[in-house]
Amino acid sequence: MIELEGVAKSYRAGAAQVRALDGIDLRVDDGDFVAIMGPSGSGKSTMMNILGCLDVPTEGRYLLDGTDVSRMTDDELAEIRNRKIGLVFQSYNLLPRTTALANVELPLVYGNQRARRTRALRALEEVGLADRAGHLPNQLSGGQQQRVAIARALVTRPTMILADEPTGNLDTEASHEIARMLGRLSQAGRTVVLITHEEEIAAYARRVVRLRDGRVVGDERTDARPGGAEGSGEEATREIAVGPQREAGA
Ligand code: ADP
Ligand code: MG
Repeated sequence: MIELEGVAKSYRAGAAQVRALDGIDLRVDDGDFVAIMGPSGSGKSTMMNILGCLDVPTEGRYLLDGTDVSRMTDDELAEIRNRKIGLVFQSYNLLPRTTALANVELPLVYGNQRARRTRALRALEEVGLADRAGHLPNQLSGGQQQRVAIARALVTRPTMILADEPTGNLDTEASHEIARMLGRLSQAGRTVVLITHEEEIAAYARRVVRLRDGRVVGDERTDARPGGAEGSGEEATREIAVGPQREAGA
């Protein structure tokens, strides 16, 4: 479980200080699928870097599965990242002259080569790209490259997937496919946090958190699980559930 308590992050820019995060309290339950939205500069990437243990807050606490990671050293953070977190970015960050399979294998540091291969292939299967294992990144579409990047994030079997604008470089159809894939990963029990500025992509999440000037200004459940939310009619529930898929063809 993710718990941010009064998390703030300040950057020094010359003489000035930028308060990129200004007191964030947020709790994300295991297996949830949360979209983070907000205008450019609102602190989304700063928050993602902290959630992903790439950076630490200047104030407040970050409890990850009950452990305070906000005062850890770089080595300790790297260990947590490797064990618990899969990161996905807008630019896929694949090594260019390296096959999809070898790219996915990269985070695996333990085990013999054969075991690593098998696990990487399984991760590629999970994103539907086993038949492209031998392809180089430039032989794949943008959407396929992002799926390889997701496989690379999955290969260490993290409990949490964090994606910072993963559809930012993709066309509408590929964007919806990536969003659907993240939805499936959350249904399989992983916690998914997705940063996006596209409402129709955020609509795949079960919860939408909105940031502005480093603060949380909105937090709604979109709960679309059939038979789940009380109060909303079944019709409305189904409308939310199928909404994004229908727009994929539009
Ligand atoms: P978003 O991802 O929502 O666009 P960011 O988290 O990247 O926003 O940035 C939030 C604010 O912090 C912005 O004002 C940005 O200029 C500033 N900022 C981000 N990273 C740094 C940094 N490394 N040094 C100084 N200022 C930064
Ligand atoms: Mg950003």
